[in-house]
Amino acid sequence: MIGGKTKLFGLVGHPVAHVRTPQAMNALFEQNGLDAVMVPFDVPPADLSGALGGLLRIGNFEGAVVTVPHKMAVLELCRDLTPRARLAGAVNVLRRVGEDAFAGDILDGEGFVAGLTTAGHSVAGRRICIVGAGGAASAIAVALAEREPARLTLINRSRERLLALHERLASRFGELDVGIGEDVGGHDLVVNATSLGLRADDPLPFDPERVGPGVLVAEVIMTPEITPILHAATGRGAAIHPGRAMLDGQLEAIFRYFSADGRIGRRQA
Ligand code: NDP
Repeated sequence: MIGGKTKLFGLVGHPVAHVRTPQAMNALFEQNGLDAVMVPFDVPPADLSGALGGLLRIGNFEGAVVTVPHKMAVLELCRDLTPRARLAGAVNVLRRVGEDAFAGDILDGEGFVAGLTTAGHSVAGRRICIVGAGGAASAIAVALAEREPARLTLINRSRERLLALHERLASRFGELDVGIGEDVGGHDLVVNATSLGLRADDPLPFDPERVGPGVLVAEVIMTPEITPILHAATGRGAAIHPGRAMLDGQLEAIFRYFSADGRIGRRQA
């Protein structure tokens, strides 16, 4: 039951109607007997700074999950950032620090790796290709780079974002074989980390003829569960890993981030 001591968390995105995170987080708060609630906030890009500033003025507001299209813009609004958020150039969780500031972290990549691990797939020693260079792709690239793959190849439509991500990874992971490519062929794991596949008329993010048996094709898109590229990859004999696993993998991490240090009280009976 929501009461006077309930801590308030937000899901900040635009649009938010399709997002499932509040339902999942509220279930976790409930299961763990914590006195907190998460509410979706539909915030257009032009209002992001004003909306977050306003939330900080609400005394029982503790933090937020940040989603499309704000993950990169919110970086500049954080006073403290974890090294991995800095490296990924994106933030997807905010926690209040003191009266008037936010700390930011990125848990998308951890969620992706946790989803892979739960499904029995490994990262170390594998040749990995990431298609995309936006917020999700950057977070996944950092999390995978930390786990010693044999090679990391980056592919993206726009050159500018691709080069920027490559430069950040190459300077942080000196030992890593990280390159820029155009072909997903020759890899063990290919990740679609673009937003292509959300809409029925989207083009495929890469040529499925370049994957086959022995290759795992992973997705970040959650709906539809089997995106056109996963469908095509299955037809080529490749194994597939749907995007839902990434969200499931990071719910637990988000819950731990918000409830650390006993900052949420127990729910009264
Ligand atoms: P961004 O907007 O930051 O990045 C989008 C990426 O898709 C960029 O690499 C962009 O390329 C590429 N892209 C978009 N349109 C096209 C196109 N027409 N042709 C080629 N490339 C294109 O978004 P995010 O990284 O934040 O999110 C990407 C997807 O990941 C979203 O669908 C989101 O829902 C999903 N996601 C899933 C999560 C999960 O838990 N499963 C968690 C987080 C995100 P360019 O740089 O050239 O614009």
